[in-house]
Amino acid sequence: MAPPTPAATTAPPAPWSAADSAALYGIDRWGDPYFTVSERGHVIVQPKGERGGALDLVELVEELQGRNLSLPLLIRFDDILEDRLERLHAAFERAIAQYGYRGRYQGVFPVKCNQQRHVVEQLVESGRRWHFGLEAGSKAELLIALSLLDDPEALLICNGYKDRRYIETAILARRLGRQPVVVIEQADEVERIIAASAELGAAPFIGIRAKLASRSTGRWGSSVGEGAKFGLTIPDLVATVEALRNAGLLADLRLLHFHIGSQINDIAVLKDALQEAGQLYVELTRLGAPMGFLDVGGGLGVDYDGSRTASAASTNYSLQNYANDVVATVRECCDPHGVTPPTLVSESGRAIASHFSVLVFDVLGASRPPLAVPEALAEEPLIVRNLRDTLAGLSEQGPLPPERLQEGWNDALKFRADALAAFRLGYMSLPERAMAEQLTSACSAAIARQLAALPAGSAIPEELLRLQASQSGTYYANLSVFRSAPDTWAIDQLFPVLPLHRLEQRPTRLGTLADLTCDSDGKLARFIDRGHSKALLELHPLEPGQPYWIGLFLGGAYQEVMGNLHNLFGSTNAVHIRLSGGGRYSIDHVVRGDTNAEVLQAMEHDPVALLERLRVASEAAISRGDLAIRDARRLMDHLEGSLRQTTYLQP
Ligand SMILES: *Cc1c(COP(=O)(O)O)cnc(C)c1O
Repeated sequence: MAPPTPAATTAPPAPWSAADSAALYGIDRWGDPYFTVSERGHVIVQPKGERGGALDLVELVEELQGRNLSLPLLIRFDDILEDRLERLHAAFERAIAQYGYRGRYQGVFPVKCNQQRHVVEQLVESGRRWHFGLEAGSKAELLIALSLLDDPEALLICNGYKDRRYIETAILARRLGRQPVVVIEQADEVERIIAASAELGAAPFIGIRAKLASRSTGRWGSSVGEGAKFGLTIPDLVATVEALRNAGLLADLRLLHFHIGSQINDIAVLKDALQEAGQLYVELTRLGAPMGFLDVGGGLGVDYDGSRTASAASTNYSLQNYANDVVATVRECCDPHGVTPPTLVSESGRAIASHFSVLVFDVLGASRPPLAVPEALAEEPLIVRNLRDTLAGLSEQGPLPPERLQEGWNDALKFRADALAAFRLGYMSLPERAMAEQLTSACSAAIARQLAALPAGSAIPEELLRLQASQSGTYYANLSVFRSAPDTWAIDQLFPVLPLHRLEQRPTRLGTLADLTCDSDGKLARFIDRGHSKALLELHPLEPGQPYWIGLFLGGAYQEVMGNLHNLFGSTNAVHIRLSGGGRYSIDHVVRGDTNAEVLQAMEHDPVALLERLRVASEAAISRGDLAIRDARRLMDHLEGSLRQTTYLQP
């Protein structure tokens, strides 16, 4: 009698719906209110949140491809950027009303978070009604901010290392009707500010950055706090105030600044810092500085995994909790001392820019799933028959307890070792050994299926967990992780990743995503999982001739600016989409990705000379008779075409 095949004994899978996918990938938590899944199984974008209007992301990508915008494609929803800005201001307005705070909120956007011109322009434009400003952390960013920020009431916070030219630029920019605040971050900067002010006969607005004892935890925490590069220690801060007083510049000291790190996961950390900074502010007014502004820096976090916990990929507070704590704590510091509450400034980058961009890429192929179990032959070696019996046992109607699975796996490993020994000694043929190997993989697949059917929270031996992982596939993505999501590689940051379509179908495979670069780190191999992370993502089997599109979400902050030219993959195409009436949209800007020629030029190669050398080489091959003229022409056409194309694979 033939042993039962695994398929015959596994219970038929329960029906699957788009809602199951939404829960599996967590999109209704981290995506709220911008991303959901339709009944058809497509990802839907609501760029204005609850205020109405939705776009089917799959249809959008199809239409963009029709306009010759090939994948990978960065789609920026400028409405989301505007909505984030509105939410931030609404949260502070509510907090100010609730706590009867007798001051205002006036934020700035840190340019380093996303330096793309259209993005900064959009923020300045949308933020005009609140006099929303910019923060620069370098001379280049100061240039961007000076040229784009034309609102005379908006703040321009100048952070980072400052040489004499940076300081003079900031002082002179006041004459252009800008409001730069030069923040002293290093003890020696005060001397340069005093010298520049004396020479120009004008002073800038001056800020002072404190190095707080309270420090953030998590992956960004080590760059701040007492050991940080930036900010003045308390003794330096006091000495700086005295130096300003002696130079007659104390009247220009207007702002206290701190920044305890990006992605603050735990609000308790922020509260400590706020209390310390609030007291410092009060003390600075007592020392005679007019002050007026308290800048709480960045750090407002993003809930990447939707878990609302203090884990690294999440935050245990909402935007409103954050605003409430800032407002309430500063009020509690100022009121007892009769100090006028300052205008509150924040430099939130991540919280404003993360949601608005979606990176869409296609899957080019996947590693082959294991072959089906071969039919039993009449004459089989005992070892092969033993493996068949083991497989039959592991394929029984489950779920089988983990001990039974471990036992079965131990048997399978033993028989496979026997097969290897028999092969070495010449007692087993190559086809028979292949059969033994295949049956062993089938055992491990059967174990993975049994494990998947176990109730959540079952104790599973480590070895079986690894076995489950080994059953996974590799999906090959038309993408450079280094270029488009550098933080996943540099600091193990997690972003939500999921297919954009087929979500009404159960994802029956587990896999990781490998990118186009030749680097073994060029992959997405950790995924969000409600307060934890997981090594494998649920994916669908590829269908021949059908595209499989994946979206990486919440990557609008920091991912576009650090991208390097790893393996010479350049920037991707990018489009800016605006919702218009009647379920339609408009394309506000198209930013073409780097072509191969541009990327080569960035490395000091000359594309024309390069082509010329290859033309000479092909002429030589023609005269040797190694290359037909027709083929030489084809080769040169490919080379010239490649130089004009983006660095990614074309369909
Ligand atoms: C990076 C940085 C920010 C932005 O931090 P987010 O976490 O993106 O809000 C703000 N201020 C300073 C000084 C920074 O270095």
